[in-house]
Amino acid sequence: MHDILPADMAGWHLLESNAADVFASYGFEEIRIPLLEKTEVFSRAIGDATDVVEKEMYTFEDRNGESLSLRPEGTAGVVRAVLQNGMLYGQPLRVWYSGAMFRHERPQKGRTRQFHQIGAEVFGAEGPDVDAELIAMAERLWQRLGIDGLTLQLNSLGSAEERALYRESLVEFLQHHEQDLDEATRERAQRNPLRVLDSKDTAVQALLENAPRLGDFLGAQSQLHFDSLRRMLDKLGIEYQVNQKLVRGLDYYSHTVFEWITDQLGSQGTVCAGGRYDNLVELQGGKPWPGIGFAMGQERLVELIRQGDEIAPVHPHIYMVLAGQEAKLVGMSLAERLRDELDGIRIVCNPGDGSFKSQFKRADRSGASMALVMGENELQSGTASIKPLRGEEPQHSIHVDKLVEWLGEWIKQIRHDAV
Ligand code: ATP
Ligand code: MG
Repeated sequence: MHDILPADMAGWHLLESNAADVFASYGFEEIRIPLLEKTEVFSRAIGDATDVVEKEMYTFEDRNGESLSLRPEGTAGVVRAVLQNGMLYGQPLRVWYSGAMFRHERPQKGRTRQFHQIGAEVFGAEGPDVDAELIAMAERLWQRLGIDGLTLQLNSLGSAEERALYRESLVEFLQHHEQDLDEATRERAQRNPLRVLDSKDTAVQALLENAPRLGDFLGAQSQLHFDSLRRMLDKLGIEYQVNQKLVRGLDYYSHTVFEWITDQLGSQGTVCAGGRYDNLVELQGGKPWPGIGFAMGQERLVELIRQGDEIAPVHPHIYMVLAGQEAKLVGMSLAERLRDELDGIRIVCNPGDGSFKSQFKRADRSGASMALVMGENELQSGTASIKPLRGEEPQHSIHVDKLVEWLGEWIKQIRHDAV
């Protein structure tokens, strides 16, 4: 579980503010749900035989002996929330969330035990139009963030019945080749055979070349759903690869599943994943109701943003160098007035005392663009001295009555230069 330090915040804010803007532009509303839920909210939805529920959840008993878990993902809790608040039926519902998730995994680069996701869900529409729109929405976000080089992989898992048939056939195939499977794969084949398709092992992958294909088990309706989605994506100019082995780690998916992958982050290259979960609402105690969503890994996206264009860190505009008690009092009131008058201005007042020299040193280290100096001379003449800290411009003084106007123009110029 990592700290996110001030130096990293700019990338996080860029991601979060752009996601909020882009999602709003598609009619999505934000929802915030608890970090803790009853364990059954997750075990029922995600599936008992998944890695997440079997091995990765932080589960404990509270003081009443009730089993609770830290959320390992957002969708199960969102479904619980919209059901409980009677928001589900009627109009299609579009919501998004963001926040920390917890999974007790083996920590490695790009994989931590507390991580953050931004996710979006649509309820009450069978698609494939909303499937295409959801994918287009994520693509728009990548574009806004200047992230390129992502590959979109797409597959259809068909209906639960079709998947059950496929599963039988796959199990038969795997049993037939049991002697070629390693212990872990053999175990997987018994507990959750579709996850074998996901195997990172090259020998297993080679064997799977001859395995039955999920696509061959789709019925006419599922096939039509998938073909229409592909046509819509083509029309929207969104590139994708069909990956018949894409199955996703959580049990609740059906029909459309998709992932965006990058090769710029080493082995943990999936930055966003999602799919349709038409059975989940019913699993959570509601009426059968279609749903689709995705979740993106914020850490991985922030890392991609960081590797791309340099993001300007947030520094103060002004560092106030205040020499003497009187100057401190006048300077602090002046700083408050500037914050009143100049929206968004960032001012740091030198704390405590200190010689001019030591205060200027701090001013420099703060990354501020200018120092605003008040000492005895300035107090007497009712002025402040402006000393640019970047660039070569000389120091000059200005009457405090003119300061708001002057700084207003200066800030405008800085903002203009920044775009
Ligand atoms: P994997 O098969 O890699 O474990 P998953 O199926 O468990 O993936 P999802 O539950 O679909 O992953 O999560 C969606 C996204 O959230 C992932 O694509 C990834 O970007 C991010 N994510 C998931 N788990 C972690 C983690 N432990 N640390 C950092 N990011 C994560
Ligand atoms: Mg996982």
